Amino acid sequence: MMSSNSRSSTRRLWVPGPVIIGAGPSGLATAACLKEKGIPSLILERADCIASLWKLKTYDRLRLHLPKNFCELPLLPFPKDFPTYPTKQQFISYLELYAKHFNLEPEYNNTVVSAEFDKGCGFWKIRTSVGMKMDQETEYVCQWLIVATGENAEELVPDFEGMDVFLGPITHTSSYRSGECFQGKSVLVVGCGNSGMEISLDLCNHNACASLVVRDSVHVLPQEMLGRSTFGLAMQLLKWLPVRLVDQFLLVMSWFMLGNTPQLGLNRPNLGPLELKSITGKTPVLDVGTLAQIRAGKIKVVRGIKRLMRNSVEFVDGMVENFDAIILATGYRSNVPTWLKEKNFFSEEDGFPTQPFPEGWKGQNGLYAVGFTKRGLLGTSIDARRIAEDIEKQWKVKAVQFMAFANSSTSPP
Ligand SMILES: Cc1cc2nc3c(=O)[nH]c(=O)nc-3n(C[C@H](O)[C@H](O)[C@H](O)COP(=O)(O)OP(=O)(O)OC[C@H]3O[C@@H](n4cnc5c(N)ncnc54)[C@H](O)[C@@H]3O)c2cc1C
Repeated sequence: MMSSNSRSSTRRLWVPGPVIIGAGPSGLATAACLKEKGIPSLILERADCIASLWKLKTYDRLRLHLPKNFCELPLLPFPKDFPTYPTKQQFISYLELYAKHFNLEPEYNNTVVSAEFDKGCGFWKIRTSVGMKMDQETEYVCQWLIVATGENAEELVPDFEGMDVFLGPITHTSSYRSGECFQGKSVLVVGCGNSGMEISLDLCNHNACASLVVRDSVHVLPQEMLGRSTFGLAMQLLKWLPVRLVDQFLLVMSWFMLGNTPQLGLNRPNLGPLELKSITGKTPVLDVGTLAQIRAGKIKVVRGIKRLMRNSVEFVDGMVENFDAIILATGYRSNVPTWLKEKNFFSEEDGFPTQPFPEGWKGQNGLYAVGFTKRGLLGTSIDARRIAEDIEKQWKVKAVQFMAFANSSTSPP
C-alpha cells in the first residue's frame, strides 16, 4: 500500500490488489482465496474485530442453523471435533483461526462512506471515515472493489404507532443475548423467522411468558428428517427430482413430524418451501423445539400489531394484552445503496445485486459482490472462489504487462 501526499486533509492510499469491504465470513473467504493465488488484498472493516455480526449481534444459544458441511469456508475445513451444528462460539473460533491461518489483518474502525469508479483514471476511489468521531478520512485507490458488507448490515426496525409511548424496552434481536433478564416478564417477540422462533423458545426456557407475532404465512420444517438434515436431504433430492416434488415430500414429512402447523396459527404459504425460497429468498424456519412449546401453550401465537400503548399492545384482531418488553425479530437489510455510487449492479431498493444467483457476483470495471446470494455461507464460498479465479486472470495479465514495462525501461539503449 503506497501513501501519497494530498493538499486536502484526506489521506490518499494506492492499493495494488483488490480492496474488500467487510471482514465477515464473506470478506475473509475472498481474501483467503485471493491469497492462495498470490494476490494481496486489503480488507476494510467498520467494527474493531472480524465477524462482527457473529461476535456482537447474535444471541448466546445460537448454533449454525445448517449442518457444518454447508457452512465451511474455502480452503480450511472445520476442526474435526466440531458437532454437526457448531455453536456460535465454535464458529467464531473457526473464523479467528481462519483469519490467523491466512494471515488476514483487516483495517478496523474503517467505515466505508462512499465508493466510486473514476472513469478519468480508471480506478475505484473508496472513502472511509475513521476514528471515534468519524472525523478522519482516508481515500483508497484501487483497481478491484469487492463488496462483502453482508445481507445483514443494518437492523430493520418497523415503525409501529405508539412506539414512543410504550414504557418497556423495545430491542432488536441484534441486542438480545439471553432470556435470563426477562424471567417472569411478559415479552412480545415480533417476527417469526428463525431468530424470532428461537428467541421465543429461549424466553420460555428462562421462565418468561413469550408471545410471538405471526403476521404472514410461514413454512416451519423439522431440522432433521430420516436421520439427515432437512437441508442436506432437500439438496440431495433436488439432484434427481423437480423442486415441486421435493417440496411436496418436505411438506408431507413435516406434517407427519410436526403435525398440523396452521392449527397452531402458523399458516403455510401457497408455494412450497424451496420454490418460495428460490422466488422470494424467504427462508423456511427450521424448528429447534419452539413448536412443542407453542403446542403446550407456553408460547402464544398472536396476530399483527395495530398499535402500542403505555403497557400494552393492541393487535389487528382487536385483542389487547399487557407486555413488559418487546423484541423485534424483524431482520436486517443491506447498506450498499448508502455508500456505493454505482447504480446498475446493486438495486437501490433492497441493496442486493440486481441479477440473482448464480449471476450477481461480478459487475463492471472490477466491481464484485460476495455473500449476497440469499444462500448463506454456501453462497459465500461459491462467490469467493469465483471472484478469486476471475481476478487471478486479470492479475496475471497485469503482471506480464508490468514485467514487459520494467524490462523495457531497464534494458540498455
Ligand atoms: C442470527 C443469524 C444466524 C445465521 N445462521 C446462519 C447459518 O447457520 N448458516 C448460514 O449459512 N448462514 C447463517 N446466517 C447468515 C449470515 O448472514 C452468514 O452466515 C454470514 O454472517 C454472512 O457473512 P458476510 O460476511 O456476508 O456478512 P456479515 O457477517 O454481516 O459481515 C459483513 C461485515 O461488513 C461490515 N460492514 C458493513 N458495512 C460496512 C461499511 N460501510 N464499511 C466497512 N465495513 C462494513 C460489517 O461490520 C460486518 O463485519 C445467519 C445470520 C444471522 C443473523
